[in-house]
Amino acid sequence: MHDLAIIGAGPAGSYLAGLCAGNRNVLVLEEHPEPGGKACSGLVSSRLIKLLPVEIKKKGLIEHTVKRAVMHFMNRQFEFKKRESAAYVIDRDVLDRRLAAYAESAGAEMRYREKVLSLAQDKEKVRLKTARRRFEAKIVAGCDGARSVAAKSIGSKPAELLNGLIMYIDKQDYSDTVEMWFDKSLVKDGFFWRIPRGKNTELGCMGYGLSFAILERFFDTVKMKVSGRAAAPVPLGITPTFDNRILLVGDAACQVKPWSGGGITYGMLSASYAAEVISNVLKRGGFTGLSAYEEMWKKRLLKDIKAGLIAREFYKDLDLKGLSSVIEKAESMKHDGDKIDFDFPFSSMFTG
Ligand SMILES: Cc1cc2nc3c(=O)[nH]c(=O)nc-3n(C[C@H](O)[C@H](O)[C@H](O)COP(=O)(O)OP(=O)(O)OC[C@H]3O[C@@H](n4cnc5c(N)ncnc54)[C@H](O)[C@@H]3O)c2cc1C
Repeated sequence: MHDLAIIGAGPAGSYLAGLCAGNRNVLVLEEHPEPGGKACSGLVSSRLIKLLPVEIKKKGLIEHTVKRAVMHFMNRQFEFKKRESAAYVIDRDVLDRRLAAYAESAGAEMRYREKVLSLAQDKEKVRLKTARRRFEAKIVAGCDGARSVAAKSIGSKPAELLNGLIMYIDKQDYSDTVEMWFDKSLVKDGFFWRIPRGKNTELGCMGYGLSFAILERFFDTVKMKVSGRAAAPVPLGITPTFDNRILLVGDAACQVKPWSGGGITYGMLSASYAAEVISNVLKRGGFTGLSAYEEMWKKRLLKDIKAGLIAREFYKDLDLKGLSSVIEKAESMKHDGDKIDFDFPFSSMFTG
């Protein structure tokens, strides 16, 4: 029997495996034949770069650096400029591959092409079933993304599943500005973006029920050279994240910023809390005490997730007149980009 079985070799799962594998018997079950392949812009703050083990942040991870964000609302623009720390556009496949290698070199057993179909816990252990085998573990961490089978097994599910879509345009872009457009005539609850990736340009959108047709229409891509496209769900909500021997980390736990869909940093921070709690629980020889994990991640993330969900509901319900009046009020306020922490914008605003 394994001490810990982790479902999913995304950033949350592989990072957790790397942190726990040192002196524990850790198994990672990943449905795909290799790590990577997730639709993701990979726009992260310096906080994430600092968190990463050194071998992961060596050359090849960061594709480009940006310092400005421009938000477009109804022909008005808001600009946030960072003088000090920048945001980074990272290669998400490189991140996933390096994190999986980090987990493996720490001693985790990585098994690919193992899609977990079901899991069931009793007093002694958790039993996992894949199409080919059965496994047993003292504790299971569901790091299996937005449509998590582990979450389902404990009756947990996102309040909303949004669509996140990306198109890569074959056009070099080394500018330092990310742009976002909020166009209520096309997306009631979300936004479009353009990210300079250096060697190419990314166009994307996030919101309920969005399709590539809407993305193409917004950016009028007919004459553009599209070199790739990808899509994935973005889970939002506040859901239970543990039950006896099973805990959830990352997208499986909806540890996502509701205003941007970003979840790499929240998922990896939560993986570090999970690692600490799992290590203490296994040291004591039982499994009780996993509730401490939920307390830890909520203490750090919940305030910003809750505020983001409220802001999202408020934006969804605004009609054009209401939006216009909010924009007028916002225009009269001064913004200092350096004071805003883009991982924790709400708590950073209120603590100065
Ligand atoms: C279009 C788009 C753009 C985004 N841009 C950003 C961004 O710029 N910055 C940012 O921080 N976040 C971004 N995100 C969010 C980010 O991608 C997720 O928050 C992050 O991937 C969550 O990591 P995770 O490890 O929890 O889950 P995932 O990365 O989804 O990994 C889950 C893993 O579990 C595996 N799996 C699933 N089910 C099973 C099963 N039953 N058995 C075995 N394996 C299974 C999957 O194959 C996958 O490898 C974006 C998301 C989308 C959709």
